[in-house]
Amino acid sequence: MRLVLIGPPGAGKGTQAAILSDCLDIPHISTGDLFRDHVTRRTPLGRDAQRYLDTGELVPDQVTGDMVRERLAQSDARGFLLDGFPRTVAQARGLSAMLDATGSALDAVLEFTAPEDVVVTRLLNRGRPDDTEDVIRHRLRVYRRQTAPLLAHYSGILLTVQAVGPVEVIAARAMACLLGAGRRAG
Ligand code: ADP
Repeated sequence: MRLVLIGPPGAGKGTQAAILSDCLDIPHISTGDLFRDHVTRRTPLGRDAQRYLDTGELVPDQVTGDMVRERLAQSDARGFLLDGFPRTVAQARGLSAMLDATGSALDAVLEFTAPEDVVVTRLLNRGRPDDTEDVIRHRLRVYRRQTAPLLAHYSGILLTVQAVGPVEVIAARAMACLLGAGRRAG
């Protein structure tokens, strides 16, 4: 299974991705985690990416795409759950090209939705270094401007999950959506 998770910061993609990757036995690939790992290890990529993470801007598509291509080339990534990528239409085109090259394609895109006041509260409670109110508001603007257009791009394989409520309930909703879509696809 090849899946993409989309949703505003604070929608709980990371939490749900961990549960779903376990249930489906596919690796959870989070571009945010990959970037934070580079920053911690002080790699050249990490030094480049840091200022984007700090301000809530997107890391340039080329850098991000190269990092994902490398990760998807690893032997465990025949199936995968991408969390935080693609985040722009250009990244989505890049991903299609990577998958085309191996004769594969995405099975589904799961969108997690939650009202803005709910996501802001969650992020303020989480308290990662880029979870200050100003940076959060900026990440939400970036989401609306650059990432939300992907929903139309993926309309043919898009499944929407309401991401308000207990974590297990949301995960069950997501699994039900995936199973339902699988049945419809035959
Ligand atoms: P959140 O979903 O809370 O915004 P992430 O961990 O997914 O958090 O991302 C944190 C930061 O990492 C983003 O604000 C951005 O700077 C960078 N980033 C993550 N994924 C991408 C991507 N696909 N393209 C560009 N930048 C990205």
